Amino acid sequence: MSPSLATVAYLGAAILFILSLGGLSNPETSRRGNLFGMVGMALAVLATVFGPRVGAGGIAWIVIALVIGGGIGLYAARVVKMTQMPELVALMHSLVGLAACLVGFASYVDTSIRLEGAEKIIHEVEIYVGILIGAVTFSGSLVAFGKLNGRIGGKPLLLPGRHWLNLVALLVVVWLGRMFLGAHDVQAGMLPLIVMTVIALLFGVHMVMAIGGADMPVVVSMLNSYSGWAAAATGFMLSNDLLIVTGALVGSSGAILSYIMCQAMNRNFISVIAGGFGSGAPAKKSGDAAAAEPQGEVTPISAAETAELLRDAKSVIIVPGYGMAVAQAQHTVNEIVRTLRDKGVEVRFAIHPVAGRMPGHMNVLLAEAKVPYDIVMEMDEINDDFPDTDVAMVIGANDIVNPAAQDDPASPIAGMPVLEVWKAKTSIVMKRSMASGYAGVDNPLFYKENNRMLFGDAKKMLDEVLGALTG
Ligand code: NDP
Repeated sequence: MSPSLATVAYLGAAILFILSLGGLSNPETSRRGNLFGMVGMALAVLATVFGPRVGAGGIAWIVIALVIGGGIGLYAARVVKMTQMPELVALMHSLVGLAACLVGFASYVDTSIRLEGAEKIIHEVEIYVGILIGAVTFSGSLVAFGKLNGRIGGKPLLLPGRHWLNLVALLVVVWLGRMFLGAHDVQAGMLPLIVMTVIALLFGVHMVMAIGGADMPVVVSMLNSYSGWAAAATGFMLSNDLLIVTGALVGSSGAILSYIMCQAMNRNFISVIAGGFGSGAPAKKSGDAAAAEPQGEVTPISAAETAELLRDAKSVIIVPGYGMAVAQAQHTVNEIVRTLRDKGVEVRFAIHPVAGRMPGHMNVLLAEAKVPYDIVMEMDEINDDFPDTDVAMVIGANDIVNPAAQDDPASPIAGMPVLEVWKAKTSIVMKRSMASGYAGVDNPLFYKENNRMLFGDAKKMLDEVLGALTG
């Protein structure tokens, strides 16, 4: 492929990626967005493999790598459950970071690259910054992976003087950078590069370990952004324009997502990154806050009684959460919605921005079950409607409907906007036990007078509710 044709293909792929992002911003156009992304990526891979920079000998290596990587990807896509998607995404971010580190070291030791003067300095800065971002992304994403799959607890690790530690690490990294740029040969530059990589790896671990369970959504989107910048840095090192554009797209859209997540959780981005929120530790109560301590009795309800309440209701709001994803109950939910709407009941969904374990998690599940988009509402669109609602049905959600976020200033989730289901005439919470959610915080909603608990696996319970509704 000639260089100009490869450039045109890259340009086409970049446009397709932009269209893809545009499509993904809306459920109705998201399928098309995905398609654009896939076509763009296929074009990018073909233009790279058959492009002017890969010699005949290189193609064999690329094909071997494609077969191995593609095989692992195919296998993962087949066996990974929907509930494991967030972990998989974190793992993929870590791979982007690792790739940036490896490309950085490879570019540094590559003897075929002979640059002088300013060009040499620019190239070495690209390498240094690329490896720095890559290493933070790699280790941070691995810890996020561990936190998301539960192997690492949600409680933040708060080392004494952690902010000072971070500051010292930053200063050392700058100092090592000077040493690296001043090195007269590869051997002399390798030591500061390796030491900086180790510091960056430790910083990545420390940064994510210091963030509490409730703030993980911000971390996930932030690492998404970092992986984009790592890819862009790789693009600079390889002088690959498409990688720079694509990395910048992922980096900036991830940054916007982090901002949206921070707003959704009423958090300051800098404070989240500094860590310490969402400690999940028993909250210290004082004064009015003590009123938020869960107390009283919970009132269980059966599936048949739930069906009766739903049948008699004029308006129902369904709040799905992580438990719906675990139970894979979305298809039964859709059946129930259809049945109720056929009976003239107004049914809508209320989607909290951090419901589930990844941004857009609930939207993906509901779209998969073919729930009509026009009844799926964002939190801000529907939160004021609960007082006029007969039944609010919470399916496997917990933190996102926890009134302690509003009532208890000492709660780890204090200040996070929540769906006010308790304002409905009756709320029904469907879950297996009294266990807390991801943030590890007790939920006073369960004890409210107008709340009912439908204990059991969401899929099993909803099947019974559907049976009672249609039977
Ligand atoms: P939560 O984790 O707060 O609660 C989920 C509830 O589902 C649990 O209390 C659990 O209770 C119940 N559950 C689990 N399995 C089942 C099942 N098979 N059937 C019925 N119920 C089940 O989820 P939410 O969606 O309410 O909140 C999301 C949380 O995750 C927030 O804290 C958010 O910050 C965090 N988070 C979100 C991310 C995102 O990007 N969206 C990323 C990372 C973290 P029980 O065991 O009793 O059944």
